[in-house]
This record gives sequence, C-alpha cells and structure tokens, in this order.
Amino acid sequence: MNRLEFSIPPFLSVAWVSEEALKHWQPIFKQLNQALIDTTLSGVAQGVWNSRRIRIPGAAVMKLPETAKALGLAVRSTQTGLPGEKGPVFHDVVIQLRHTSQPGDTAGIPDCCVARHNEMQGNARQESIWESAEATPGRKFDTDTITLHGGYVHGAVWHKLLVNPFSYPLCHLYCPTTLRLTTEHLEWMRAESHAGLADIWADMAHWPAEWNASHGICEMRTPVVKLAYETDATDRPFRVRFDGTAWPTHGAFGLDFPYRSPERKRMTDSQSFKNGVDLLRNL
Ligand SMILES: [Zn+2]
Repeated sequence: MNRLEFSIPPFLSVAWVSEEALKHWQPIFKQLNQALIDTTLSGVAQGVWNSRRIRIPGAAVMKLPETAKALGLAVRSTQTGLPGEKGPVFHDVVIQLRHTSQPGDTAGIPDCCVARHNEMQGNARQESIWESAEATPGRKFDTDTITLHGGYVHGAVWHKLLVNPFSYPLCHLYCPTTLRLTTEHLEWMRAESHAGLADIWADMAHWPAEWNASHGICEMRTPVVKLAYETDATDRPFRVRFDGTAWPTHGAFGLDFPYRSPERKRMTDSQSFKNGVDLLRNL
C-alpha cells in the first residue's frame, strides 16, 4: 500500500440504510457499547483477564474512571488524534488491577500482535485493516481487493461506532489469541446477564462488510449502516471484503456488495411455466 504524505482532518459520517435500520439498531448498539465496557471492567476486576485494551467512541468514556475506581482498577486513557484537533472523539483505554504494576506500553496486546503494533506506531498509521488482511491465511487477493470469510476479529470494522474490545493492530484477522479472547469475552457477557447482546456481537462477525480506502477517506459499508471517516492517504483505492453468511434484521437490498440482491423468483418456479410443462407432458 503506497501511502501519501497528507492527512484529512478527522470526520465521521454515519448513514443508516433506512429509517427501520436506524430505529432497530441504534438502541441495540448503545446497549452493546455499555455492555462491552461494563463486562471488560468487571472481567479484569474478577481476574478473567490481567489487562485489556479497548477503544471507546464518544462520551461513553465519561463514567468509566469512577466505575473503575470502585472496582479497584487502574486505568490509562488516551484521546486519539492530535492535541486541540476538532472532530469525533475516541479514547484508547488500558485497564488492569490497581495492585499490579502500571500498565506498560504493550499491556493488553497479545505477544503475536506486538510486532504489528510497533510497525503501525513507527509509521504513525491510523488503521491496520489492510496490513492485517494481507497477512491473513486463506485470504483471496485480486488486484487491490482482499476477500476473506466471516468469523474474523471484527472490532476494527465497527470501531467508529462501537467499542472495540480488542483495540490493537492484529497480527492477522483470524489472530488465534484474539479469537480465543473474544470467545472468553462472549462467555463472560453471558455470565453477566448480557446473553442477547453477546449473540448479536458474535453474529456481527458473520455479516458481510466492505472496508474501502482511497485518498485518505475510508468508506465502511455494512448491511445496516455506512460510515465514512478519515484514514491513511493512499494513491488509489484499497478494498477488504468480508464475505459473511449471516444477515441482520433490516439489512439493505441492493446489487452492490455487501448488500443482498433482491430475491427474484426463477422462471422455472412460476406457475405458468409449470402449467406449460404439464401441457407438453400430456401431448
Ligand atoms: Zn495476534
């Protein structure tokens, strides 16, 4: 990927595919964000994980220091972007027990993903989806498009709208350690009375989606919402397609990936065709 020497100021545009999709998914995503934050905090407090690194969009971070203190947790929160820069706000939050040592630079990052983290930091990259997709076993590569199947680590696909519970550049998109941590997190959510939200979060790893970056602008298309935001500037489009088999309520129909094409009855299914065949048989 050839990176250009300019950057776009931070912005975020959120376009729901329909009024129905917005009404259905927006409240669910709000609940999901809170459940992901709460279960990360309670999981570290109760020793499920030693430390975690999550990214929180918007104002959802506000109550976190108070909750963390009550649970005996040490938290290091860093706002993304440059100081004084205007635009949407995100926080990278490292969480661990207070009586352990202060969170180090790579706390919460699995050993297998540390090299990717260092590479991205060294190059001041904003996103690592392309590099992680390129390194993914079994991915298909066609010119500037990489395609892979569902069941991948999907936090980065949604990180502009939802909490990314594993916020670090991945060694690859089926990183075994992060997938194991995801399973643990889902089990913990179910144990903490969030079974319905855990099912939705798990299902979303199987929705089709497309990450498309060109000239510093990323378009992330999912069946229910389309996001546009600033990313690393490149001289031509790069695309990662996540080919999923699950389909959300109120997902959009359309001819372009990742939308589902409108189902048309095949001619052989029509009653007049069957009547015609019967007539021929009886001749
Ligand atoms: Zn890894």
